[in-house]
Amino acid sequence: MTETHPPRLAIIVPCYNEQLILPDSLSKLLGLLGLLIKEKKIRENSFLYCVDDGSQDQTWEIIFNKHRVDPRVKGLRLSRNAGHQNALLAGLLNMQDQIDCAVTIDADLQDDIHAIEEMLQHFQQGSEIVYGVRSSRKTDGFFKWLTAVAFYKLMKHSGAEIVFNHADFRLLSRRTIEQLSHFKESNLFLRGIFTLIGFKTSKVYYDRGSRALGETKYTLRKMISLAWEGLTSFSQAPLEFILISGALSFFVSLGLAIWVLSAKIFAHPVSGWASIMVPICFIGGIQLLSIGVIGEYLAKIYLEVKNRPRYIKDTELH
Ligand code: UDP
Ligand code: MG
Repeated sequence: MTETHPPRLAIIVPCYNEQLILPDSLSKLLGLLGLLIKEKKIRENSFLYCVDDGSQDQTWEIIFNKHRVDPRVKGLRLSRNAGHQNALLAGLLNMQDQIDCAVTIDADLQDDIHAIEEMLQHFQQGSEIVYGVRSSRKTDGFFKWLTAVAFYKLMKHSGAEIVFNHADFRLLSRRTIEQLSHFKESNLFLRGIFTLIGFKTSKVYYDRGSRALGETKYTLRKMISLAWEGLTSFSQAPLEFILISGALSFFVSLGLAIWVLSAKIFAHPVSGWASIMVPICFIGGIQLLSIGVIGEYLAKIYLEVKNRPRYIKDTELH
């Protein structure tokens, strides 16, 4: 599909307690929007779409006031904090009928907004999904770097396909967003879904800066929960791991049993403590771990079966 006319673009910005950085980010994005319109890369009615993910600070007021002076800023307020992934989904699904393509970008603009122009070029050349990929992880702290690399490796070895060093900075065509709407899962891990959708895709490389103002909304807890979401939504590897460790512990205990028996038969004194405690702890540990992992999958099924709404809209600014 090659578009000849400039597309109508929505830049979708999830915002959670971003009062410190949002005014600056909005003016930078509006500047970019103006430039792209002037260069006829996008249609004049392209716009910013801010999704307020149930912020407790002045975020919504900032969006609202900006909308009043500049209608190119539109907004959606969710009824409560639904999480980054759901906020992105809400923005995309809510705007899908009005646009030709959308770019999602974090409110702190750590991702390079100038990559958007290149994304648009790829879109014009027929790409339906353009992934923003970080060319390096220089601006990350050691801990973030380590956890990120470990996560991508783990996902890869578990058989889930995700694009290395790509987070949620991407361009999506209208067709892709339509397809996304058919993925009804409550346990949402967007990065994994786009590789499942298919179509022509491409990558744009950029350098990611550090957050200029405010602090990260991805606490360690949210990071672990996102990684766990990604792993268990796209891979059965943890269940297979249980099977393998179960089999291993079975053979180890078999060996131990033979050892204990032969010691008894050949009348060597066995110190009972070690031979009893070691297998009890070992097998007990593995069993608890296994039940935990199975429980996680069960909880996921439980959540999916309930089929609850993934986000609830409060107010919309058109
Ligand atoms: N965010 C959100 N809901 C949340 C947490 C974060 O909408 O529950 C948004 C946040 O406002 C930002 C983006 O998700 O636009 C990424 O968050 P952040 O920059 O804090 O994450 P980091 O870059 O540190 O991974
Ligand atoms: Mg950030």
